[in-house]
Amino acid sequence: MTKWVYTFGDGAAEGRAGDKNLLGGKGANLAEMCSLGLPVPPGFTITTEACNWYYANGNAYPDSLAADVDAALGHIGNLTGRSFGDPEKLLLVSVRSGARASMPGMMDTVLNLGLNDETVEALAKDSGDPRFAYDSYRRFIQMYSDVVMGLDHEVFEEILEDRKATLGYELDTELSAAEWQAVIALYKAKVEEELGKPFPQDPREQLWGAIGAVFSSWMNARAITYRRLHDIPEAWGTAVNVQAMVFGNMGDTSATGVAFTRNPSTGEKALYGEFLVNAQGEDVVAGIRTPKNITEKARIAAGSDKPSMQKLMPDAFASFVTISDKLEKHYRDMQDLEFTIERGKLWMLQTRSGKRTAKAALKMAVEMAAEGLITKEEAVARIDPASLDQLLHPTIDPKAERNVIGIGLPASPGAATGEIVFSSEDAEDLKGQGRKAILVRVETSPEDIHGMHAAEGILTTRGGMTSHAAVVARGMGKPCVSGAGSLRVDHRTGTLIAMGATFRKGDVITIDGSNGQVLKGAVQMLRPELSGDFAAIMEWADAVRRMKVRTNAETPADARMARSFGAEGIGLCRTEHMFFDGARIVAMREMILADTEADRRMALDKLLPMQRSDFLELFEIMAGLPVTIRLLDPPLHEFLPKTEEEIAEVAAAMNVSADKLRQRTEALHEFNPMLGHRGCRLAVSYPEIAEMQARAIFEAAVEAGRKSGKLVVPEIMVPLVGIVKELEFVKARIDAVASSVMKETGVTIEYLSGTMIELPRAAIRANVIAESAEFFSFGTNDLTQTTFGISRDDASSFLEVYRQKGIIEQDPFVSLDIEGVGELVRMAAEKGRATRPDIKLGICGEHGGDPASIHFCEEVGLDYVSCSPYRLPIARLAAAQAAIKGR
Ligand code: ADP
Ligand code: MG
Ligand code: MG
Repeated sequence: MTKWVYTFGDGAAEGRAGDKNLLGGKGANLAEMCSLGLPVPPGFTITTEACNWYYANGNAYPDSLAADVDAALGHIGNLTGRSFGDPEKLLLVSVRSGARASMPGMMDTVLNLGLNDETVEALAKDSGDPRFAYDSYRRFIQMYSDVVMGLDHEVFEEILEDRKATLGYELDTELSAAEWQAVIALYKAKVEEELGKPFPQDPREQLWGAIGAVFSSWMNARAITYRRLHDIPEAWGTAVNVQAMVFGNMGDTSATGVAFTRNPSTGEKALYGEFLVNAQGEDVVAGIRTPKNITEKARIAAGSDKPSMQKLMPDAFASFVTISDKLEKHYRDMQDLEFTIERGKLWMLQTRSGKRTAKAALKMAVEMAAEGLITKEEAVARIDPASLDQLLHPTIDPKAERNVIGIGLPASPGAATGEIVFSSEDAEDLKGQGRKAILVRVETSPEDIHGMHAAEGILTTRGGMTSHAAVVARGMGKPCVSGAGSLRVDHRTGTLIAMGATFRKGDVITIDGSNGQVLKGAVQMLRPELSGDFAAIMEWADAVRRMKVRTNAETPADARMARSFGAEGIGLCRTEHMFFDGARIVAMREMILADTEADRRMALDKLLPMQRSDFLELFEIMAGLPVTIRLLDPPLHEFLPKTEEEIAEVAAAMNVSADKLRQRTEALHEFNPMLGHRGCRLAVSYPEIAEMQARAIFEAAVEAGRKSGKLVVPEIMVPLVGIVKELEFVKARIDAVASSVMKETGVTIEYLSGTMIELPRAAIRANVIAESAEFFSFGTNDLTQTTFGISRDDASSFLEVYRQKGIIEQDPFVSLDIEGVGELVRMAAEKGRATRPDIKLGICGEHGGDPASIHFCEEVGLDYVSCSPYRLPIARLAAAQAAIKGR
């Protein structure tokens, strides 16, 4: 027969901490605390299986449940010398929900269950404190009516506030026994009036009402939404805990409180918490009265003149300190505790591993490892990699005043202050003058890259979390607020209109990319603190990880930053970004718009020295670490002159008429550039472009090698290959250039050539492609676009709808679609290795910085992940956790 009910109490329990699936988190930990001999009021847990049975059987209870509950109530009675429903030996209980994971949205706890008009008198007599008895009864009516019978608690608060106003009281504790009795009469009348039936007087009816309410709350709308957002399966079900009451509201020697064994916001190893004298349950968190500090130390730090628990109740405090130490050692983690003191005696009501800030998590993990409480690997495994983001950017001082003028999406974390500019050119100008700019645009485009680089932060009024602005900003580690729809950019007048106010170029604003707020003026910031704890965790992570971590970088500034964040090379250097700057863009446009190969070569000759010096600088910064350089990739139209002014400038440089230029521009027009003339297709049409780039790379490698005395082994990556012959064609050109440069310089050059796998066809033909490719780098941004047939730039408008309607769970551009795109990656990796066992495999899409995707990369056995500089610490940690998990 199935066991539906597990008892605990008096130093023994039928369950254990490991039984969370069956008993829920709260029930399992109550059982564990009992087994440890801690003072826990006795009780029992109805299992999650009973909840599942309830739903599988049309909201009915298993046959034996009633008898099991009776027996368990008897067990509590034996341990307490009381009996449920018996006014002579009154036993009151609390009914508490408890799923595996703590879940807001579930039923609130009901306290003091078992009270009625008769038993309340017994409680008054028994305790010798009628005020306490009536206070407990009115709390019970309030909670039960709200939680079980669905009567809004506000109706009761109104009654109570009225009474207090009439009596001239401020605090609930001022009401006398008789005054509470009067309130109770009003409460009961209200229940009857609103619900058409009296408040239930039968304790058993009350109990089953509460048990049923816990089970039903598993399927209420709040709980369903919460489960969906947090990936909690419906099949888990919730447990119900029924527990003998202890009373924190029995006068001045009683209290209730919550505490953490270490400070959850700083991580400091010091008991931290709050309590209230003569109070019950959630009074501490409800904010009705201001709670007091538990320790003297915290009281002094807070500058409070209210006595601490340490001072007021020294004995209970001493036991609490002992117990909290014991629990932390036992669970080997910071604990979040709930307790009640009844007439000087301490009772433990809950323990669980506590939530904490990223900063606190690092400090605790490092200190616990130093204390020997956990191993270094456990310390590494405990940190949520995504949370590190909070620590890598400047943030707004929490104490600063915020004058919010608009809200958008928190597209890239961190905060930035600067003068409003509406164009990338202005952003660069300002930067040139040593001033700070916030680039404000409706949307950004690839042409804005230089402006985004120059700006402190980016604000757009359109576009989602994966819009161009958002993706590029995250890549650069720049704060960005995207899609701030309530703001309006008026390009005609050069203004930003926000909440009726008009802002102009030069006006100062601040954006908070962590919450999407746009603020007026400058706001006080806190610098990111890469403290010793952070460094220690990174070092421990590096010691266990298998995969290498590289960065996506093309500017010297990014490359340097990446090295300081631990990059072990460059996984993706996008050469096109190097062509947008100043004089280069003109030469680039000349090259693109040239009619003949000869003209093209002339323009390319101008670009060669610029490229060479770019690469040289990157090789020097990377000092012998691998550098993967991708040949020109985007459709050429992205470089074309748009304004009349630009056309005139290029026409003059090329010595042709503006009209002729316009014609050539039109000829380059494409209907679907994303799938158009780009990637290796450019190198096939215009091999001279690839040749120039290869020459720049090799000459730079030779020079860097000469200067440093170290061998530089560049990795040349051919983008968008789908057909092996494409790669063979381009590779032949690269090899030819290598031979010439070797002949010219007399230096032997070592290099790898490989391809990006970003088309499904490339994945399918990976075994054949690997005959020519010495490495694969999975370009999962484009591979996701081409596998789904979804354009990333247009996806934000419907992907969110898809998520809401449950068609997809996550944005596949943020976290790799493991079952679809991931399957292609897995297949290509296997096929590639089958042909060339030592083929180097890496990933360079945005996914290279996403923890879940990094786990997948470890599973498939990639050699490295590559991500933007600011995500490197996250990638290092996630790669370490993936390695630990894979053992
Ligand atoms: P939550 O999951 O929302 O924290 P709990 O079930 O822990 O809800 O109950 C909230 C509070 O109610 C507890 O922190 C405790 O103060 C009080 N409480 C619960 N059960 C009892 C009990 N048996 N005796 C006294 N107080 C209790
Ligand atoms: Mg609790
Ligand atoms: Mg691509």
